[in-house]
Amino acid sequence: MIHSRAMDFRPTEEQQLLRRTVREFAECEIRPHVMEWDEAQAFAETLWPKLAGLGLTGIQFPEEYGGSAMSALDYCICIEEIARVCPGVALSVAAHNGLCSAHIAMFGNDDQKRRFLPRLTQGEVLGAWGLTEAGAGSDAAGMRTTAVRKGGEWVINGSKSFITHGRIGGVMVVMAISDRTKGHRGISAFVVERGTAGMTPGKKENKLGMRASDTSEVVFQDCRVPEAQLLGDEGQGFINTLQVLDAGRIGIAALSVGLAQGAYEAALRYSKERRQFGQPIAAFQAIQWKLADNATRIEAARLLTYRAAYLKDCGVRTTRESSMAKLYSSEIAVKAADDCVQIHGGYGFVKDYPAEKYFRDVKLLTIGEGTSEIQRLVIARQLLGQ
Ligand SMILES: Cc1cc2nc3c(=O)[nH]c(=O)nc-3n(C[C@H](O)[C@H](O)[C@H](O)COP(=O)(O)OP(=O)(O)OC[C@H]3O[C@@H](n4cnc5c(N)ncnc54)[C@H](O)[C@@H]3O)c2cc1C
Repeated sequence: MIHSRAMDFRPTEEQQLLRRTVREFAECEIRPHVMEWDEAQAFAETLWPKLAGLGLTGIQFPEEYGGSAMSALDYCICIEEIARVCPGVALSVAAHNGLCSAHIAMFGNDDQKRRFLPRLTQGEVLGAWGLTEAGAGSDAAGMRTTAVRKGGEWVINGSKSFITHGRIGGVMVVMAISDRTKGHRGISAFVVERGTAGMTPGKKENKLGMRASDTSEVVFQDCRVPEAQLLGDEGQGFINTLQVLDAGRIGIAALSVGLAQGAYEAALRYSKERRQFGQPIAAFQAIQWKLADNATRIEAARLLTYRAAYLKDCGVRTTRESSMAKLYSSEIAVKAADDCVQIHGGYGFVKDYPAEKYFRDVKLLTIGEGTSEIQRLVIARQLLGQ
């Protein structure tokens, strides 16, 4: 006889409490400052200790390293609730947790974890993660930054582009070519601390959206790091990066779901307030269909995202599921933000309402941590068994 275990789609009481707590925090501590941070293009330094107080600077890391020991599913709930209010802050939280700290937690040795993780998880420093270069984005393995071993040290030369927390990060994981003859198997990862001679922040990017999150170039000129700061095995940096991205993309999917939810709620609210032709615009079927389609797509995206997170929590490799969740969620978020502006009409085009900001912020989600085209490529490779 076949016994089937029922699938339970209901959140647990703990998950409901977590969502309520992060939502309340985001409404009180983030919502009032959203436009101020966006216009100043300034990272909210004062917010970081508050995020740390709630355990959001070390969401998925073990308690022994100062983390909150939450699951991947809990991580999604946290990112979603921050993104619902401010996608820029959510991007910072996701890059700090899901890229820099995750890379150290997944591939660092005990000494490295003890040395770097507690400061990251406790929010004492921000984490940055440097893969992309001016000439190597989607084709990240085409990077030119080099690391040469010299007298017990690694000497790094090159530059990284579009680095989240590039100017303000206290700890950075950077990928560099340690053996040019071995292609992507000749790339290694290193941990570099802020203040290390030879590492300097470059141009700060003036961005379309996600302006509350710091993005800049980082330049390495004869930057010397001790051998002990090689992260993971020599030559495994790029291979490890792909695993970091499998997990990171679940975070970007959750960010997309949260942004879409925020945009949808703003549109729903406005459609009930705004009157034309003697009735609320929500009475028009054209508006109702937009709301219904967005609500349905958001639920589908959330399920894909939670499934990827659930599988990660089960210890399964989620390359395909993460890419599917990231691809779908980011694309439906673009549609939700677009419809949000449309439902607001002219008021969607001005800064008095949240619609225009969601519309600007959302575009990063089909680009960062692998564009939509790259997600399709990853999914197709999985389908074709390549
Ligand atoms: C705000 C922001 C924050 C970021 N944060 C970080 C960070 O913290 N760390 C980091 O390392 N990087 C970061 N990035 C970089 C980001 O990951 C890259 O921008 C992204 O991977 C795309 O690379 P690219 O910009 O060079 O585009 P390109 O790779 O030049 O792509 C240009 C276009 O060509 C398409 N394309 C490329 N190759 C193919 C192909 N094989 N098939 C089909 N189409 C293709 C792409 O999909 C895209 O449409 C960030 C970027 C931004 C904007």
